[in-house]
Amino acid sequence: MTDTNASRSTEDLCSSCGMCCDGVLFHSVELQSGDQPRKLSALGLKIRKQKGVEYFLQPCSAHREVEGKCSCVIYEDRPVRCRAFDCQQLRGVLAGDITQEVALVKIREAREKVALVHSLMAQISETNPNRSLAHRVANALTLPKDGVPSPQHDELKVAMEHLESFLVKEFRV
Ligand code: SF4
Ligand code: SF4
Repeated sequence: MTDTNASRSTEDLCSSCGMCCDGVLFHSVELQSGDQPRKLSALGLKIRKQKGVEYFLQPCSAHREVEGKCSCVIYEDRPVRCRAFDCQQLRGVLAGDITQEVALVKIREAREKVALVHSLMAQISETNPNRSLAHRVANALTLPKDGVPSPQHDELKVAMEHLESFLVKEFRV
């Protein structure tokens, strides 16, 4: 695949997906050597530091989704980890092992599973939209003392398990 075709594939897939930026696949992104924390902060990333490790939480503040199309508003200056990450679907397309159409079907399927998790979660409780999906689901599933799980709790647990195993099989590397 030529560089131009590779970058077109990345654009087509990633603009339809966004799951490595919006808190579905990751809780946080660690900065690497070569990253410039001050510059990234000036660009709007909320850089934190814990035990000497600099990182930012997901959903990433540079991620945008408008009418189903995702983008990174600091794409040209994005951190090293962001440049290095290609999920299984993107790798498959770039290597010529699968077509873009096949990958887009997997992305649509994943996003439907994410939407189901969101809708079940909303029926149980409000959660912090600035945290990863897994973190929010864990909070929604926390029961009050002596609480009994509702049918929605069970449905959410199952939906999240289905989503996670799909992500492991089709996206995580
Ligand atoms: S998960 Fe894959 S397809 Fe989706 S935005 Fe990230 S690299 Fe692109
Ligand atoms: S900086 Fe850009 S590529 Fe990296 S997580 Fe944020 S939105 Fe995604």
